[in-house]
Amino acid sequence: MPALFASPAASPPLIELINVVKIFHTTAGDFTALKNINLKFELGEFTSIMGKSGSGKSTLVNMITGIDHPTSGTVRVDGTEIHRMKEGQLAVWRGRSLGIVFQFFQLLPTLSVLENTMLPMDFCNMYAPTEREEKAFELLRLVGLEEEAEKQPAALSGGQQQTAAIARALANDPPIIVADEPTGNLDSLTAERILELFEMLASRGKTIVIVTHDPALSKRSTLA
Ligand code: ADP
Ligand code: MG
Repeated sequence: MPALFASPAASPPLIELINVVKIFHTTAGDFTALKNINLKFELGEFTSIMGKSGSGKSTLVNMITGIDHPTSGTVRVDGTEIHRMKEGQLAVWRGRSLGIVFQFFQLLPTLSVLENTMLPMDFCNMYAPTEREEKAFELLRLVGLEEEAEKQPAALSGGQQQTAAIARALANDPPIIVADEPTGNLDSLTAERILELFEMLASRGKTIVIVTHDPALSKRSTLA
């Protein structure tokens, strides 16, 4: 788990987990996946959290994104206690505040790369409908995929698909990008390019949180 930076008293952390506990109740009994987690992530930080399979990485990501609720404790993101929000509110909040990147990209196969990139804008009703296509094109240019805009995801390499998923994560210009094993399905050279892309985004002020079991990644981030 990351060490904590001493932050200036003036600005509260962008993401804060306080005494977060997650217990799964199963037929085999209770399983504590997160035990009293305290973490802070500041604006513009690039953090990777390393842990072996089953150590609770995805559970932690689900706390930050509000996909799942803690059993106890507080999750505060950009001033909002997200575990207290209702599902409908949470979905809109998530769409505007977070970009989420998954191990298996999760692009919609029947839509073009451009349409995939526009989806979060449509979902959250961000930007005027006539502006969305140009915004999405801008993002594809930023990540180097403008040539692939009209293609369907299956026509792209794994690295290009993950790059498209990152463009989609940027669609609503969220302050935070959260990624769960984003290089887990890529070869090492491609993984390197994806990490450079995250670094570029961090240098442009995005707060990046990556969970991974890949040691190469933790060497690069500002905290490990
Ligand atoms: P990681 O992403 O680090 O591989 P996870 O966060 O997915 O780990 O899971 C952490 C632990 O919690 C694992 O032992 C897993 O079996 C357990 N777990 C995760 N989700 C559930 C669930 N919905 N019900 C019961 N146990 C779960
Ligand atoms: Mg996982």
